Amino acid sequence: MEIFAIGNELLVGQVQDTNTHWLIRQSTAIGARVRRAVILRDEYDEIADALESALKRRPRLILTTGGLGPTDDDLTMRALSRALNLDLVEDPAALEMVRKRYEYIASIRPNFSAELNEARRKMALLPRGGTPISNPNGAAPGVVLEVNGTTTIVSLPGVPSEMKEIYNGSLQPILARTIGAGGYIERTLVLDRGDESRIAELLQDVQARHHAVYIKSRGQMLEDGIHLTIVLSAGSSDLTAMRTEVSHTEADLVSGLSHLEYSIKRIVES
Ligand code: ATP
Ligand code: MG
Repeated sequence: MEIFAIGNELLVGQVQDTNTHWLIRQSTAIGARVRRAVILRDEYDEIADALESALKRRPRLILTTGGLGPTDDDLTMRALSRALNLDLVEDPAALEMVRKRYEYIASIRPNFSAELNEARRKMALLPRGGTPISNPNGAAPGVVLEVNGTTTIVSLPGVPSEMKEIYNGSLQPILARTIGAGGYIERTLVLDRGDESRIAELLQDVQARHHAVYIKSRGQMLEDGIHLTIVLSAGSSDLTAMRTEVSHTEADLVSGLSHLEYSIKRIVES
């Protein structure tokens, strides 16, 4: 899976890209392997080029966030249409979603016009074949596109509350289909002492024997001094196999550590 966060404000430090971090955490927790996450400027060719190269890598899922709004610098749909070589067309269901949103705002705000001007209609322009997904907190619908039966592209709004609402709601069936109803575990071994250099070779050997588990060590300051912690993490759509593999990795590691005369202070699973 790959993630693209789109917006100039993210690349000048005006706004921190919290969407990427949130999406990575959520998707990892259900077993996705996020291979790449990139921040892009609001530039048509930059976005289209990035999407084109991503499509060549054939990920199961590409998520984009940002650039769906009514203004001229919201370019995600235009860029997608270039990358996929599909016309941009007004989608009746998307237009209905946009219309409903502005009618709702007009119903609660005096002097607010619900008229669908050109900028508002722009949010209903989708690459041909795209499916709009309703955005309960905003005007711009999300969009789902299937490409060649291998990649699903989902474009979400940049406003964090809108993005999260869609992700947690109507996106769930699509995530289940593309990522699977999997999971992610982290098991942390806290050793009795520090000094990462003494275990570097062991970690390398254990990692080479257990590809599906990611092994990461770091020094950590605890109540009683510096300790080494080793985190074993794995994500998969097969929960049972994943747990078994983490346990095998742990056993392999613990045996190597005892040869080096380390003992385990505690093991924490999350
Ligand atoms: P909408 O139509 O709902 O406005 P949009 O896709 O046009 O959606 P943007 O205009 O790109 O959204 O962004 C709106 C606001 O959302 C930005 O001003 C910024 O505060 C916030 N935002 C955008 N992208 C991110 C991000 N990656 N992380 C955190 N906040 C973001
Ligand atoms: Mg933007």
